[in-house]
Amino acid sequence: MARRVLAWLAITHIALFPAALVGFGAAGALDGAVVLALAAALAAAFVVSGAIGLAGAMALRRIESSAQRVASGELAQRVEGGGLVPELSAAFNELVAALGARLEGAAQERSRLESVLNSSIDAVLAVDQEGTISYANAAAEALFQKPHDELVGTAFGWVVPDEQAIAALRSSREDGKAQSLISERPNHQYLQVVTTPIAGGGEWAALAVFHDVSDVKRTEQVRRDFVANVSHELRTPLAAIKSLIETLEAGALDEPETAKDFLARANQEVDRLVRLVEELLELSKIESGDVPLEREPVALADVIDGAVDRLLPQARAKHVELSYEANDLPIVLGDPDRLERVLANLLLNALKFTPEGGSIRVRAIAEDDSVVVSVADTGAGIAAEDVSRVFERFYKVDRARGSGGTGLGLAIVKHMVEAHGGRVAVVSEEGQGATFTFTIPIAPTSLSTST
Ligand code: ADP
Repeated sequence: MARRVLAWLAITHIALFPAALVGFGAAGALDGAVVLALAAALAAAFVVSGAIGLAGAMALRRIESSAQRVASGELAQRVEGGGLVPELSAAFNELVAALGARLEGAAQERSRLESVLNSSIDAVLAVDQEGTISYANAAAEALFQKPHDELVGTAFGWVVPDEQAIAALRSSREDGKAQSLISERPNHQYLQVVTTPIAGGGEWAALAVFHDVSDVKRTEQVRRDFVANVSHELRTPLAAIKSLIETLEAGALDEPETAKDFLARANQEVDRLVRLVEELLELSKIESGDVPLEREPVALADVIDGAVDRLLPQARAKHVELSYEANDLPIVLGDPDRLERVLANLLLNALKFTPEGGSIRVRAIAEDDSVVVSVADTGAGIAAEDVSRVFERFYKVDRARGSGGTGLGLAIVKHMVEAHGGRVAVVSEEGQGATFTFTIPIAPTSLSTST
């Protein structure tokens, strides 16, 4: 009876063996004790059942030593020769083969998951119950500028020195709560940090995912600035009109000369409002692409001629010399009305900032695959710190100079030129005049005939 029980115990060990091994295999390490337990159990069964002779003992010895080698990681190990216990050797070999396959599968699965996490553009950190980093993906290495080995084993708080993020991760670890917050880093970088508990993740207790939202933040800021600027630009002429009307009401209406002057000033402010609204509409139309460019083959020389002619009377009145020179220009593909608007904006600015006796020169030349147009004046010029910003919406170099402009003219120029596939640039020094340049690509047919 006792023999039967022991034999049954040995068989039970065999039945449990694969499950135990697979469990350990999945954890990435084989436990030799488990494999040896099998050999011991088998030996015990045979000894007790009295079925073992010298040959049987040798067969068992072979199985035992194979089990030891399997335990040390040699999964290709097989027991040769059946001896007295062929079924046992076959079962052992089958078991080791199955184990190898399972381990292989687990390793593949692991490397697939690793690839998925490493292809994520979001940085991922997993931490243990103490808040020490146990895993970091490739994006985390790039974001925190530390190699994997330096991240793993380091406290989360050292790598992410943000009190809110640390508290969020603690809450995920300890209270099982998911949290989300925005974390600001140096150089105006903003990260959305989402922390979540990991259920059944072994030593991994919580996960922190970092998504870069700097662009979204910047767009929000641009929108806020835009609304603030529009409000300011609308409020200024409206306040002026209101105060003119109030002064008229308070008695100035009875003084014909003053009344006429006030009405003329109110009219100017209304003009400014109309210009602002028109320019805003123009800008939004180009940006939204609602009113696409009406492109056609254009002789840019004619467009420039037209714009220069239109400005000549004002230039003469201000005693500013206005000249235009161009060689034979190839045909460009463009929207003539909008190209004329680009030139008008640049020419009006040049005239506005050039004092009496100064000059404005317009030049156009074909260069590579574009026509390059420049408007150079001898006026006030632009200080170095402002040069890179003059194409921004609402940017005015010196508000106190009171040029009466909206600060939208050059933003419109930039958008229109870029919509044509060209580029804008400015070179200037304060007091030394300014040269604004833009390019418009030459029409492909014109390119092929000119080469
Ligand atoms: P505005 O309607 O105020 O002229 P723009 O967008 O056309 O707006 O120009 C932006 C700013 O760039 C102007 O306020 C002015 O200070 C500066 N600027 C533009 N053109 C010239 C120029 N030719 N010479 C000097 N400053 C210029």
